Amino acid sequence: MPCRLCEADDKLEISHIVPKFIYKWLKETSATGFIRCGLEPNKRVQDGFKQEFLCPNCEDLFCDWETEFSKTVFHPLVSKQAHSFRYSEWMLNFTTSLSWRVLKYIQEKHELPHFNDSMKAEVENALQKWESFLLGHEPHPGKFQQHVIPLDKINSATKSLPLNINRYLLRSVDLDVVTSGKQAYVFIKLPYLLIIGFIKIDRPNDWKGTKVHVKNGVLGSDEYVVPEFIFDHLIEKAERSDKIKDNISDKQTTKIEKTARSNIDRVVNSGTLDALKGDVDIHGDKVFNRKKPN
Ligand SMILES: [Zn+2]
Repeated sequence: MPCRLCEADDKLEISHIVPKFIYKWLKETSATGFIRCGLEPNKRVQDGFKQEFLCPNCEDLFCDWETEFSKTVFHPLVSKQAHSFRYSEWMLNFTTSLSWRVLKYIQEKHELPHFNDSMKAEVENALQKWESFLLGHEPHPGKFQQHVIPLDKINSATKSLPLNINRYLLRSVDLDVVTSGKQAYVFIKLPYLLIIGFIKIDRPNDWKGTKVHVKNGVLGSDEYVVPEFIFDHLIEKAERSDKIKDNISDKQTTKIEKTARSNIDRVVNSGTLDALKGDVDIHGDKVFNRKKPN
C-alpha cells in the first residue's frame, strides 16, 4: 500500500501509532521495567502499536513535531516540573497528526461499525482536512479541532470513582473513536494527558481553554472548562481497563511478582507505585481486596 498520508509509492516504515517516547517513559518508570497493553494484558510489549504506515519523508515530518512535544510538554509535565506550557505551530501539527493516525489506523482495522453513514462521511471529511493540513496545503484544520486536557492525580473525590482511577489517568494509553448523538471524536488518552480530535463537535462553546491554537498558545492554563461527558467517558474507560486487568492470568501475575521482588528499589521509586498510592488514598484497602474472577 502507498504512504497513508502523501500516497507516495515509497517503501513504508514501521510507524508508531502512539509515539515511541510515551512507551519508553512508561517502561522506564514502571515497577517491573515492562509494560502491558490494555487488550492483551498477558503479553509484555516493547513499545505499543506499530504498523507499516508512512513513507520516510512523512515519518520525518511527524518526528520533528513529536520531538518538540516530548521535550516541551510531555517530559516536564510527567516529571512535575511544570504545569503550563507555551507552544507554537508544532502543537497543532503534533495533535492533528496523532488524531489522524489513530483515526486512520482504527478505521483500517475495525471499519467503525458503530458509526452511521452520515458520521462515516464526517470521518472522511475529517481525515481529508487533517491530511491537507499536515501536508501544508491548508493553514489550519478548520472545524476538526484539537483539544488537550492535562490530567493530574486525584487525591479525594465527592463522587464514586473506579478503584484504578489514578493508575488509569497517570499510567495508561487508551485509544478510541467515539460517536454519541450529534458528535464524534478521536479519544487519545496518554499518561497525564487527554487529547480529543473532533470529527464533529456539537457545542464548541462548552469548551474553554483547551483548544489548540494555530500559531501560539498556552497549554494547561488554570481556567479551562470541559463538558461533563468527557469525565464520564474517562470514568467508563477506567472501569473497562480495570476489568481487562482482571483477566491477567495467574502465570503472568506470578511473573510480575517475581520481577518486582527481584528489584524492590525500582518498585519503591516507580511511577506505578505512585499512581497506586493515589488510588489507595481515595479508596483505602479496597484497592487490594479484589475478588478474582474464575
Ligand atoms: Zn508520505
